Amino acid sequence: MRIAVIHHKGRLRVGRMSADGHHIELFAIDARQGALALIGLASLPPVDTTLPLADVEFAAPVPAPRRNLFCVGRNYHAHARELHDTVFKDNAKAVDAWPIVFTKVPQTVVAHGSAVRLPGAAISSQIDYEAELAIVIGTGGRNILAADAMRHVWGCTIVNDVTARDVQMRHSQWDLGKSFDTFCPMGPWLVTADEMDGRDTRVQCWVNGELRQDARTTDLIFDLPMLIETCSRGITLLPGDIIATGTPAGVGMGMTPPRWLQHGDVVRISIDGIGTLENRFVEGD
Ligand code: MG
Repeated sequence: MRIAVIHHKGRLRVGRMSADGHHIELFAIDARQGALALIGLASLPPVDTTLPLADVEFAAPVPAPRRNLFCVGRNYHAHARELHDTVFKDNAKAVDAWPIVFTKVPQTVVAHGSAVRLPGAAISSQIDYEAELAIVIGTGGRNILAADAMRHVWGCTIVNDVTARDVQMRHSQWDLGKSFDTFCPMGPWLVTADEMDGRDTRVQCWVNGELRQDARTTDLIFDLPMLIETCSRGITLLPGDIIATGTPAGVGMGMTPPRWLQHGDVVRISIDGIGTLENRFVEGD
């Protein structure tokens, strides 16, 4: 089931995609928390409105996460290799014993179709994209074992882990360079875990129509169950927590010379089994 959150008559509504893929069927439920309104329900609420998909304005499936998003760094083998030639070369081992985990603040989240704001050259001139599969936790827990981990997943979506590379590099923690306003496009919707486990799916990213990233999640260094096990060690994961699983090779930083995002650039990310997330990057407030 594909769960979408939209703006409708001045408020957020949550619904499911129709079988024909051309409509959204809105549930009669308070959707201020977006798709999180459906987590843990014994059955789906009744549908009270059906709209043509072409007419809707999307919100992010989780428009206001309850706390920071967990994000995983350098988690595709090919991406780890490309970083050997960047400023990360001093600490870029091909494979570490443990994943790199950092967070983005919840206020970074924006919808499919929303603008991503470039902060201006005085703040950062090295803005980069990162196409990523993200999972949304449905059943919380602490010390979750990898063998049980997928039972805790409620669904999958797409995020663009937008990054200010110069700011990321300036601080030994990455959070600042990852957390500028609008720096986490998410969507266009969420696919429930009964339809998708993320084990072997294709992740692609284009900038202005030029294919930059193209990988399968089979290239992940730490797979989804291991990431859930790692993030829940001593920390209780909560329903609605989001884990962005890392980006494939082909980021702008990995190119020679690096290619940073500019005003007007359009970044489009497709993940098989989910759909396509597209956002334009613009200068100014
Ligand atoms: Mg990332």
